[in-house]
Amino acid sequence: MFLHEVSRKACVAGGMSVTDPRYAESVLAAFGRNCLYCGGELERDRASVEHLNGMNRVSVGLHVPGNVAMACKRCNNGKRQDDQLLPLAENGWESFLFHDGSRCAPTCKACLYWTSIWPDRETRRTSLASARERVHGFQQPYKQFVQWSANTRELLRQKIEILYRDCQRFATDEIGKLTLGLELNFSDSKTLESED
Ligand SMILES: [Zn+2]
Ligand SMILES: [Zn+2]
Repeated sequence: MFLHEVSRKACVAGGMSVTDPRYAESVLAAFGRNCLYCGGELERDRASVEHLNGMNRVSVGLHVPGNVAMACKRCNNGKRQDDQLLPLAENGWESFLFHDGSRCAPTCKACLYWTSIWPDRETRRTSLASARERVHGFQQPYKQFVQWSANTRELLRQKIEILYRDCQRFATDEIGKLTLGLELNFSDSKTLESED
């Protein structure tokens, strides 16, 4: 919710939002009707709106132009775990596209995913490199959003941590208060049971 509110303000400041028809056109121009990661054809009912930098505590992605496109379901699933780690790049999408099998342990899930898509090492390497280039090209017209997001990421990350901590403290306090008035005397019901 916090990242959505930040996104809304950024869109107002930047004078464009992802719901602008021109934005949909530019996504189409960059990726066609294909997945932004694997380039596979998007299935009508299984494609999902993808945040290149995921909207989570680690990636701190925003719902702004340059960070929203379409991905196939399996890439969307494949990327999710990497989003919690970001081992290979500061950008969520870039980290995902760096798992070409040459940088990680053999058990790396993202590397295994890309190996399942392109078993041949050279094909995998060039396909992932061209996917990265495609995304960079797509983001070009939205550089102001991309740049601002990158510059603000660390600050937003800190604010999210504060927000999480405060929410947790609030919830703990409230739960404490709300459970205070509960009658927790089981001895009566025990008597009833033994009388049956
Ligand atoms: Zn895909
Ligand atoms: Zn990997």
